[in-house]
Amino acid sequence: MATEKDYYEILGIPKNASVDDIKKAYRKLAMMHHPDRNPGDKAAEEKFKEASEAYSVLADNQKRQLYDQYGHSAFSQGGPGAGGFGRGGFEDIFSGMGGGFDFDDIFSSIFGGKRSRKADTGPRRTKGRDIRADINLELNDVLKTKKIRIKLKRDEVCDVCGGSGSQGNTGSKVCPTCGGAGAVRTTQGFFTIQTPCPACHGEGRVISNPCKTCRGTGMAEKDSEITVRIPAGVQDGQMLLVSGEGNVGKNGGPRGDLYVKLNIRNNTLFERHTDDLFAKLRISYPRAVFGGSMEVDTLEGKKKVNISAGVQPGHRIQLNGEGIPNIDTGRRGSIYYEVVVDVPQNLPARAKNLLKDYAEMIGDKM
Ligand SMILES: [Zn+2]
Ligand SMILES: [Zn+2]
Repeated sequence: MATEKDYYEILGIPKNASVDDIKKAYRKLAMMHHPDRNPGDKAAEEKFKEASEAYSVLADNQKRQLYDQYGHSAFSQGGPGAGGFGRGGFEDIFSGMGGGFDFDDIFSSIFGGKRSRKADTGPRRTKGRDIRADINLELNDVLKTKKIRIKLKRDEVCDVCGGSGSQGNTGSKVCPTCGGAGAVRTTQGFFTIQTPCPACHGEGRVISNPCKTCRGTGMAEKDSEITVRIPAGVQDGQMLLVSGEGNVGKNGGPRGDLYVKLNIRNNTLFERHTDDLFAKLRISYPRAVFGGSMEVDTLEGKKKVNISAGVQPGHRIQLNGEGIPNIDTGRRGSIYYEVVVDVPQNLPARAKNLLKDYAEMIGDKM
């Protein structure tokens, strides 16, 4: 289970902290609580994990925005690889960090450089690209947590070359364009600019005999079916993050993430305001006068409400617990029915006469 503690509190930073502040705060906590510095100290290990989880979210701009908007519920995905950036998958957390954050740096400052940097040879593992998908829901769909299967196309490892991108496993050779440097220099006026080599994309090596199926990318687009867990109470337009269900990474790198936008169709009966629903309740004039029990529509069939005698137009009748479940607490909101008194337009003659008698009785001459 992922922690439900506030990520900003865990790192001890304000909500408007800069990326730099977040890095600094995390660096401090990671050094203090790292398990290797506190052997057997479960509390320290827990703190280290919490800080890492908080960092993995807040350091990623897109994830931070989701967190600011929806809190932990934005990340409450289950299924394979569950927990997202939750516990257990440290390699996952750190490989997904990117963004110029040098974790090796922390390790070397803690352990005096015990953890060696990865050798610069060999193909670079990069995280796969993120995918965006849409799911359309009816209002009734958000009453209970649902698992929905969606179909999408995503990059998978090429079957023919096993992801190496190389035909018949002939491997790679030094890039002839940059001579293996991974970068090329161009001179513009006074400046010499170094840019990643366009031929090898900065890797310094190119595949000598590219796989014909994937043209050397090592990836192939395939149809996939993914189960997305949609927590009860989601809002229209809400974005869900399904960690690690994006495109496959390059050279065995981790998968990207899947972002699912939820579209909730407008309901014909109810207007939704967060967890409450609003509807009009049309009643006849005699019903307004005499009151009594009446059937009303809810999201789950008909329910009875009691109308008090002499109810006025605009009065709101509240049906508790019939609204939308709160995404955090699960507690359901209410349905509010606004009383609208129907004024009849094509009355039969007898009814008209009765009404005229009534008007006369109250001194309102027609
Ligand atoms: Zn090159
Ligand atoms: Zn291939």
